[in-house]
Amino acid sequence: MENEENLQIENTLSTEAKKKITLKGMTIEELKNYFTSKGMQKFRAEQFFYWMYNHLTTTVDEMSNIPKTIRNEVREEIELQTLNYFHTEQSESTKTKKYIFVTNDGNKIETVIIPEETRTTLCVSTQVGCPLDCQFCATGLMGYKRNLTSGEIFDQFMLAAKDFGKEKITNIVYMGMGEPLLNYYNTVKSLRIFSHEITKGISYKKITVSTAGIAPKIRELADSGLNVKIAFSLHSCFEEMRTKLMPINQKYTLKENLMALRYYAKKTATRITFEYVMLKNLNDTDKDIEALSKICKEIPSKINVIPFNSVSHMNPTGFSAQLESTSKEKIEEFVAKLRDKNITVMIRQTQGDDIAAACGQLANRLS
Ligand code: SAH
Repeated sequence: MENEENLQIENTLSTEAKKKITLKGMTIEELKNYFTSKGMQKFRAEQFFYWMYNHLTTTVDEMSNIPKTIRNEVREEIELQTLNYFHTEQSESTKTKKYIFVTNDGNKIETVIIPEETRTTLCVSTQVGCPLDCQFCATGLMGYKRNLTSGEIFDQFMLAAKDFGKEKITNIVYMGMGEPLLNYYNTVKSLRIFSHEITKGISYKKITVSTAGIAPKIRELADSGLNVKIAFSLHSCFEEMRTKLMPINQKYTLKENLMALRYYAKKTATRITFEYVMLKNLNDTDKDIEALSKICKEIPSKINVIPFNSVSHMNPTGFSAQLESTSKEKIEEFVAKLRDKNITVMIRQTQGDDIAAACGQLANRLS
């Protein structure tokens, strides 16, 4: 009987929770609609926007310039926080910090802060897991649950900023779990929130969206006026090898993506970053250098060479289990040969691999 009662209370609670209106993640326009639908003035939208996204407030009680009558009217029906801290880990070798957050429906996602000498970068997730099956990526190996909402993308910033210091975060990269361009709607909404003048947040120039290559969405982003930077996970310049490594290449081919990227670079007057994970014998030969330099000459770009981070913690099988990183010496030789051809190349230093927070290592069990 007692158990039944508990169950009933739980059910009521969860139905009530579902009924709440999540303001976190709403744009100014959406907030205006909410307040006018309640017969309140439009400028309340700007006030809420400021409190939620600039002041990082999570309760109406802190919103001191909003009359108590209004606070009381909305308090019970709105939700201002979409994530909670679950666990944090600090790297011993670098200052990289990994956060595991839990969503209101019990999913865990990961966010990483990477402090460097001249900047501090926040790496956000856009999906719970990832539907792409990139053979070298731990997130892909864990499977896919759902898209994150714009509120959940923002709240990764909110919670990390509260812990780390908002002012210290200078850059945001959409390189955590998931494929941002397969969650285009919420990704774009979160980008608009981060860069809004009321938020006093991060300028578009300091935000990078990384994609495995969803060509039509690259074009749509180019036309959106957002002018964020794009990083493209290239990894091989040859269709066949790229498809083997990244099955999504079958649907949106490299050729189609390169055309979309050229369009993006022209339309936004930005340089594309090509991300290139070094995989022994698969993409590290002289033939690859030739093909890479040809692409870089055709599209304003630079290359970020990334040593392959092990995904052995996911117990991969098949092709995925055979992947090995190119040796350090060979990577340096590869980079030197590209630089000889006047290509801009950076080697991305591995950050946080001791806490499985490095590129491509983010994964946990789906609940
Ligand atoms: N889906 C997006 C963003 C997530 S991956 C994309 O594909 O770009 C972020 C970056 O980490 C990508 O460049 C990805 O190719 C890289 N990455 C994935 N697995 C990796 C691994 N095991 N070692 C190093 N980099 C990896």
